[in-house]
Amino acid sequence: MDFEITEKQKKIFEEAVAFGREKIEPVIAEYDERCEYPVDLFREMGKRGWLGFNIPEKYGGAERDTISYTMLVMAISKYSASLGLAIDTHYLLSEAIKLYGSDEMKENYLPKLAKTEIIGGFAITEPTAGSDAAGIEGTAVKEGDEYVLNGEKSIIVGGAVADAVIAFFKTAPEAGAKGITAFLVDTKTPGIKKEPLNPVGLRACGLAKYKFENVRVPKENVIGQEGQGLRIALSVLDFGRIGVASVATGIAEAALERAIEYAKKRTQFGQPIMKFQGLRWMLADIKLGVEAAKLLTWKAAYLRDKGVRYTVEAAMAKLFATELAMKATIKAIQVHGHYGFLKDLPLERYMRDAKGLEIAEGTSEIQRFIIARALFGG
Ligand SMILES: Cc1cc2nc3c(=O)[nH]c(=O)nc-3n(C[C@H](O)[C@H](O)[C@H](O)COP(=O)(O)OP(=O)(O)OC[C@H]3O[C@@H](n4cnc5c(N)ncnc54)[C@H](O)[C@@H]3O)c2cc1C
Repeated sequence: MDFEITEKQKKIFEEAVAFGREKIEPVIAEYDERCEYPVDLFREMGKRGWLGFNIPEKYGGAERDTISYTMLVMAISKYSASLGLAIDTHYLLSEAIKLYGSDEMKENYLPKLAKTEIIGGFAITEPTAGSDAAGIEGTAVKEGDEYVLNGEKSIIVGGAVADAVIAFFKTAPEAGAKGITAFLVDTKTPGIKKEPLNPVGLRACGLAKYKFENVRVPKENVIGQEGQGLRIALSVLDFGRIGVASVATGIAEAALERAIEYAKKRTQFGQPIMKFQGLRWMLADIKLGVEAAKLLTWKAAYLRDKGVRYTVEAAMAKLFATELAMKATIKAIQVHGHYGFLKDLPLERYMRDAKGLEIAEGTSEIQRFIIARALFGG
């Protein structure tokens, strides 16, 4: 077992932290306030090659290992969990095309996704189907060389700005989970109505819902085979959960660093508050959590790179890191006393963002379901 992070992996973390400090930190609170996706910052990350770690070089990607990917997402999420999650869901589309798309689709889309010439999204959740993704009701009906899509996708990261999404519809409603098909959909196609959402947290990741009314897509836009949609969704969501775990670890680490800094300089009862055991132990527990979250995330990443199934490991990393982020951000506010409760500091944003991560890409309960299924079957 090798716990050493390579120089290349460290470098990406340092470069992304520098980008976060210089470019994201000064502006992100305003994007959050306005509920706006920082498109320029996202595209700048694409120009640096950061949005194509999973894409082979022959398709214009950077072809990097998954631990490097976690380094990138953790570093960016220390400054903006919204941008961290935006990276994660952009990758879901390229990953699905890489694994299941036709050669033509790979040639047309992967280079553009790698460089963020197009922004991608992932659309499965519907008003009546979230955790139970097999229960989606949106339909795709074949007419000649096209499919006609109807339905509603109720929450899509990046939906406000995305150029293309992978969207899931029932091609054979009677076949249940085996009747779902994945489509590559250009979001400018007539019949798609986009509506921005007004979320509590993760306000700068362009959350939007889409209504599909007789949206026509060519049959060549099917990703994989008809009926393979749910399998595709679940397999790319395993990778997505490594990303969400990385976002959460980034927030937890940022909250911890701010709490430590403040505890050293704030004085009460004639001494720095870091001298009080109540706070020392509180932050020791968070430090322990951050280390454990990193190790769980890196284990899932390591297994992915080995080509071994990592569904349970990704679920454990996602569950642990997101619940840690919630706890860490609440404790960081506590350490800051009344100052932590004001919007002047980013701590309240960290807390709002952390909450969304316990729900996105499978709630904590669903992660526990996956882990328990590995224990007991069923
Ligand atoms: C910030 C954010 C970003 C998101 N981004 C996207 C996106 O880009 N694309 C997309 O398609 N979707 C996205 N989602 C949707 C997300 O995947 C769903 O919210 C999630 O899967 C839960 O579905 P639901 O909200 O419909 O809740 P429901 O499934 O209705 O669940 C309601 C409650 O019941 C619990 N529950 C459900 N089933 C079980 C069970 N078997 N055992 C125990 N408890 C259970 C849940 O844990 C939850 O507490 C996003 C959500 C959020 C919050």
